[in-house]
Amino acid sequence: MYGLNEQELKMFQVKYRELLKVARHFTDPKDRKKIRYALDFAAEAHKGMRRRTGEPFIFHPLEVAIIVAREIGLGTTSIISALLHDVVEDTDRTIEEIESIFGKKVATIVEGLTKIATLVDHQELTTTQQIETYKKILLTLSEDIRVVLIKLADRLHNMRTLDAMPLEKQIKICGETSNIYAPLAHRLGLYNIKSELEDLVLKYTDPEVYQSLGKKLQETEEARSQFIRDFIKPIEEKLKQTLPYSFEIYGRTKSIASIWNKMNKKGVPFEEVYDIFAIRIIIDAPPAEEVAACWLAYSVVTKIYTPNPERLRDWISVPKPNGYEALHITVMSHTGKWVEVQIRSTRMNEIAERGYAAHWKYKENQNDENSLDNWLIKINELLKKPESNALDFLDEFQITIASEEIYVFTPKGELKTLPKGSTVIDFAYAIHTDLGHHCIGAKVNHHLVPLSFQLKNGDQVEILTSDSQHPHEEWLSWVVTPKARSLIKQYLKDSRKNQIEQGKSKLEKLFAEVRIPFNEGQVQKLARYLGYDADHQQVYLDTFQGKIDQRTLKGFASAYGKNKWLKYIRMPFLKRSSQTSRQKKDEWVDLDTTTEISYVIASCCNPIPGDPIVGCVIAQNRLEIHRSNCPQALKFSSQYGDRVRKVKWQKSDSVEFKTFIAVEGIDRKGILRDISRIISEENNLNIRALNIEATEGKFSGVISLYVHDTKHLQHLIDELSKIEGMMLVKRMNSL
Ligand code: MN
Repeated sequence: MYGLNEQELKMFQVKYRELLKVARHFTDPKDRKKIRYALDFAAEAHKGMRRRTGEPFIFHPLEVAIIVAREIGLGTTSIISALLHDVVEDTDRTIEEIESIFGKKVATIVEGLTKIATLVDHQELTTTQQIETYKKILLTLSEDIRVVLIKLADRLHNMRTLDAMPLEKQIKICGETSNIYAPLAHRLGLYNIKSELEDLVLKYTDPEVYQSLGKKLQETEEARSQFIRDFIKPIEEKLKQTLPYSFEIYGRTKSIASIWNKMNKKGVPFEEVYDIFAIRIIIDAPPAEEVAACWLAYSVVTKIYTPNPERLRDWISVPKPNGYEALHITVMSHTGKWVEVQIRSTRMNEIAERGYAAHWKYKENQNDENSLDNWLIKINELLKKPESNALDFLDEFQITIASEEIYVFTPKGELKTLPKGSTVIDFAYAIHTDLGHHCIGAKVNHHLVPLSFQLKNGDQVEILTSDSQHPHEEWLSWVVTPKARSLIKQYLKDSRKNQIEQGKSKLEKLFAEVRIPFNEGQVQKLARYLGYDADHQQVYLDTFQGKIDQRTLKGFASAYGKNKWLKYIRMPFLKRSSQTSRQKKDEWVDLDTTTEISYVIASCCNPIPGDPIVGCVIAQNRLEIHRSNCPQALKFSSQYGDRVRKVKWQKSDSVEFKTFIAVEGIDRKGILRDISRIISEENNLNIRALNIEATEGKFSGVISLYVHDTKHLQHLIDELSKIEGMMLVKRMNSL
């Protein structure tokens, strides 16, 4: 049956029963009959097809349907659409057929999914096309949000089965997942899906970290469960006496990816991430009484454990932009450990886990045209902006989608919503272009602050202007809103032409001084030497601004032409093409291997041998080597999936690679001497720069140095950690 063998057929039945089980609450016998019919239709259509994993293809839509029902909580129409989502794309069944059998609604959703699939999975996408795809995905949001929800389920299952893909594909898919789908899941409030997607990205881009954290979580689980039991007990007893509703209380462990983020952000080891788990109290109170019930539970908890007054988050009075509602408090346990407690009603909990899908479900029958939230409107504005260039769009999309928001006020008390991290300039441009162009500072809550000042929730902002003020290049590094960014860019572009002209003639003089002929080819070489991706205009501009001077040109003259890294990094296709000329032509061979390809170590992540790496083709004959977990590389691969190359380190003992170590500790006499002794004597290494500052009895700083590989670096970190008074030694990706 369906081209499955006996064992596969058994598996098929198991999965089918699971689907019915997770959907039982919102399906009646009639629905279940329809679901079975759709499953038969899909299984028949995909008959004989297999996935890369070797599994029968039909297992994939079946799993996607299970995710759609269990994780997102969508109903029959969505389950049927999920079962059929690859039918039109991969078999000879048509949309018309689907419409005549399953109706207009299902057909529309499947068509939306097919549109996305044909675009996303097509190999030869140019960057612009790829971004256009993302736009398309988002546009479908306003047509039918279920398309995007099912697409997320589809992506989740593909990520779960990513093992079967070759490395370059894995990186490309991870790039898309971390840049598009995980933020989308976050924005749609699908917390569980977002966490799992992020964990899976980590698993493939940084397997070592993923495994070691997973192991640590496992090792500490026993002790954690015991702690949670002890912590919960008095609360549970008291709640039983106080609350007139049934409730649930349990401990919930954070995802690996979010623990890892925290470790990075705070620079602390696993053991010091204090909120590895949170306690959840879910109260089954009716909507009219839920807020009071949550605050009642709050008072019970804080009577038993002392709360940290600075860590009360009331997401009930002001829900998060993705709809999240809850009370969060951090309290001191009896063993001296901070513990986060989250309090929600059953309704709030459903929204917390299923996000917009839950919202949307409540509104499904009301045919409510206004149910699309503010951010959907914003996305649509973004999509309709004709001048937005494809790459800027991705940045803007992420700011609009992924960032949290703050609420600030004008002097007249008018409320403005801005992304978190917004500065005075963002605010000024949000009100009026002229106000932005001429802004010199602001009064925030009546205190004078500079342009780069970051606003906080509740700030009242009065913009100060001057007629002689105009936008500067550095403003771009201070703003986060797409609107401010594009207005500043427009202004600079207008004044840029003039600067380019002046820079060009200045550069011509500099070339003459170092006796290099001034022509297109040389300027292009210089641009590449400086890492500008052959951008002449930037070279001229930097010359105009004095960033390129005689010293730069002397360095260029002596360095250009030598290819430092070529010897130490070997690309598989170089080796393969010399081994045999009968090699099958695959994705990377079309690069002309006889031309010299220059390799650069990316300065954002500074990989060293031992790190998992990927190559990004940033220009025709220029390859940038990134760590495979580097956010830049992930972003690159989500934009230019076809330009990611598999690269390998080649063994070499004579080469050293630049890396950075951050150190922190208690200041004492001779600490600097100890640090430099270990680095230079014990490891016979070259310190490139040692920059350490001491304040109030503490020191912190960064060491730039050259090492052979990760083992070498780890040894050094271990040695440095042993220094008396040293509290933190950590590798940094860049300065
Ligand atoms: Mn699929």
